[in-house]
Order: sequence, then structure tokens, then C-alpha cells
Amino acid sequence: MIIVLDGPAGSGKSSTAKELANRLNIQFLDSGALYRALTYFWISSGKPNIRSFIKLLPEVDISSEYKNKQFYVTLNGEDITDTIRTQQVAENVSEIAAEPQIRAFVNNYMRNLVLDDVYIADGRDLGTAVFPDADLKFFMTASIEERAKRRLKEMKLSDPSITLEDVEENIRQRDLKDQSRASDPLKKAEDAIEIDTTGKTFDEQISEMITIIENRTKLN
Ligand code: C5P
Repeated sequence: MIIVLDGPAGSGKSSTAKELANRLNIQFLDSGALYRALTYFWISSGKPNIRSFIKLLPEVDISSEYKNKQFYVTLNGEDITDTIRTQQVAENVSEIAAEPQIRAFVNNYMRNLVLDDVYIADGRDLGTAVFPDADLKFFMTASIEERAKRRLKEMKLSDPSITLEDVEENIRQRDLKDQSRASDPLKKAEDAIEIDTTGKTFDEQISEMITIIENRTKLN
């Protein structure tokens, strides 16, 4: 069984999906972290052109695990959980994620992973392209100002010099690229339930979603 949660950068998807996973005692899958992992791999391979990079994909061994409220990612045995949250990765990830072969690699990883357990996954195209038959689909939104403030907190941990303006600009650029790319753009699935979190407390939003999940799935 799978519940998906799509939406733009900083809309609160990951923290919401993690909280729901904890309350419902199910697994959490952060698809953005997988695109970030491949972006980190591209950077650490010396930023090759995309064609050469795609040839390196068979060498990539990614694994992920949700434990102690954190989504851990390893790449060829190296724990890159924190490294993938830097501004350098954020600035390049939308370009890497726009490549159809990169998307196919990530989608294949995710579809295999969810076969074994009950998951809530967050991303951009999960309800439309990756899991069109998901048991339940949410689409989260929030104003750009609110989204930038939330991301700033997270990014300050790895880069204390980052400003709200930097984060807002990065989010604007990523939204634009994510919405306009040819391959599986960020889009609300027709059957997704929209949750606008602007001005809502985290607890209010979680209660609203738990009620929906309890009414529409077998989980409670
Ligand atoms: O969710 P997060 O901000 O960590 O995602 C990083 C980037 O990965 C997004 O800006 C987007 O370019 C890409 N992404 C994607 N499809 C997904 C999840 C993330 O293209 N399902």
C-alpha cells in the first residue's frame, strides 16, 4: 500500500510525511533525497556532461532507510544523508532531475522498494507518473514566503551564511524548472486532495490529513 504526497519545494511535504509515517507506524520514502543523491554523485564525479553521466549510472549503488525520524541515504557505501542538503546540491538538482534516464533510475528504485511494506512517499510526480494507482494522493501547497522560511531553517544547519533571499530565489527557480520540464513535471494529480498549509499549524494540518487517511484507507 502506498500514500503519496506531492508539492513544490518547501511546502512541508517531508516533515508532514515523516510525522504521518510515525503516527501510522508505516515507512517513509523521500524521493527528492534520491534525486539529491544522484546530484551529489554528479558533482563528486567532476560534473561530467549528462551523456557521460548517464553511462556512470550502472556503477551507482543507492540505499535508503527511514529510522529514528530520519531518512538515511547511502551512495556506494558512503552515508550522504547530510551532504545532500547543501546549497550546491539544491542549485543543481532540478537540472539532473529533468533527465528522463535519471528519472527512470529513481522510479525503478522506488517501485521496487515499496513492494515490501506500507509507505508514505513525498515528491513532485508520484501521484501522476510514478504511482498513478496510489491508494491515496495528497498535493501540498503554501505561499513562497512561508516555504522559504521553512527551508532556511533546514539549510542553516549545513550553511550558516545562507540568507532568506538566497533560499527564496532557489525555490522560485526550482519550482519553475520542476513545473516546466518535459519529463514528468510537478503537477497535481486529478484525484489528489489539495492541502494548503499557509497559516495552518503543523498539528492542525496533521490532524486534517490523519482524518482523511482513516476515512479513505484501511490504516488507523
Ligand atoms: O523534495 P526536495 O526539495 O528534496 O527535491 C529536490 C529536487 O528533486 C526537486 O527540486 C526536484 O527537482 C527533484 N524531484 C523531482 N521529482 C520528485 C522529487 C524531487 O524531480 N519526485
